[in-house]
Amino acid sequence: MTVSIKAEYEIDLALHTKEFKVNKIQDFCPLCHTSIKPVYRYAWVDNKGLQAIFECPNENCQKLFIAYYRSPKTDERSKLEIEYYFSSSEPIRVKGKAFSETITNISNQFGEIYNEAQIAEKRRLTNICGAGYRRALEFLIKDYLINEKKAEKEEIEQKRLLDCIDQYVDDSRIKECAKKAAWLGDDETHYYRKWEDKDLNDLKVIIDLTINWIESENLARKIIEEISGRKKRKRRKKEKSALNF
Ligand SMILES: [Zn+2]
Repeated sequence: MTVSIKAEYEIDLALHTKEFKVNKIQDFCPLCHTSIKPVYRYAWVDNKGLQAIFECPNENCQKLFIAYYRSPKTDERSKLEIEYYFSSSEPIRVKGKAFSETITNISNQFGEIYNEAQIAEKRRLTNICGAGYRRALEFLIKDYLINEKKAEKEEIEQKRLLDCIDQYVDDSRIKECAKKAAWLGDDETHYYRKWEDKDLNDLKVIIDLTINWIESENLARKIIEEISGRKKRKRRKKEKSALNF
């Protein structure tokens, strides 16, 4: 939806104001993450594009942010007539992902690393966010396995992530994804790996699957413990009443 916004520009040291077309106005606040209709405050056009300042109308926020728009043409003369396209806004405050109690109890560090990777991703620090998510996954899987198999702690710590998944993870979907994701085994070579968007998405899918797997394993174990506890109590009650006769 094309919208017009008023912006200033300079020609021969003189300031002018004019309505410019932009393809969209951001409908959420990059700082408080609520859906908003931003309040326009000011905009400036030069040969790099259009920069517009908006204010968040949310009473608890009311902060200013800048939306950046690019023009598809660079022609000096047509610059003032064309439509500008939204590219990004700044600053960004990244809302950390909240994980369940089960997951935070197993690995507190997983959540911390995951959210740092997410900040890097949102800020387009693509060189480090992939390695960050991979590290988060490694902490989640290894901390869970160490919790489960205390006797094999040292072995698990030293094992490659891919080997840990292969040996200990029962979930076939995680195994299948992990096998296809070549970079997962690159304990050494991911030093120079260039992370692509596809790699990142695959990695995040594996993290989600791992979380589901751990939570369902945990739930199943709790239910089994509860049922066998109930059975034991019943048996003891029976034995006790038999003794009383
Ligand atoms: Zn806001």
